[in-house]
Amino acid sequence: MADRKADLKGWSDSLESQQPQDVLAAALPRYAGKIVLACSFGAEDVVLVDMIHRLDPSVPLFYLDTDFLFAETYATRDRIIERYHLKATQVIRVTSLLTPERQAAQYGDALWTKEPDRCCQLRKVEPLTRVLQGYDAWITGIRRDQAPSRAGAGLIEWDGKFGLVKVNPLARWTWTDVWTYIKVYEVPYNPLHDRNYPSIGCTHCTAPVADGDDPRAGRWKNFTKTECGLHKA
Ligand code: SF4
Repeated sequence: MADRKADLKGWSDSLESQQPQDVLAAALPRYAGKIVLACSFGAEDVVLVDMIHRLDPSVPLFYLDTDFLFAETYATRDRIIERYHLKATQVIRVTSLLTPERQAAQYGDALWTKEPDRCCQLRKVEPLTRVLQGYDAWITGIRRDQAPSRAGAGLIEWDGKFGLVKVNPLARWTWTDVWTYIKVYEVPYNPLHDRNYPSIGCTHCTAPVADGDDPRAGRWKNFTKTECGLHKA
């Protein structure tokens, strides 16, 4: 594993001056048939859908349907499917093993107000662990300047938590870079972004932010929690 990690670090470092499309062009053939995009239909993820579509339109995506997504998020999913002619088998809906009703019966009502880490574990982390088992690599939209916890993200790295390679093509990009791409290529995006929601998750745990606030300030507003656990080592 140490060798593998060192190899990935060297490969990743060699791509540091390249654009996200170059990172994808290097990674997609290497993991052909065993690579998947994690897509929440946020700004970064729709950029990646567009970039991947131009390189290899057969790459699948999955989304974690927590049962608590915004109507606008589902509508964005549908617009993305239409725009890129994605087949049903390419868009993988991943859900919790517990319906919201069973979760409430087992853990109490509104678990997200009491134990958001447990709620995220049940509705995001466990489903993610399950879906990633079928792949050698996953692609994510994380960027280094999104949060201190993401500042050290490599373009390509070993994800020890889930046991596969993690490709972060946008790691070096800024929020402005992302939006320039969306505008230039007219990529469909979640309209909540136009209503002060820079970061969009579940309805229960996402609020709009004030001008000048940290872009992730609207997530888990009453908690110190800043990550759902998908990108935490
Ligand atoms: S973001 Fe909130 S509602 Fe969604 S899974 Fe996490 S704690 Fe639960």
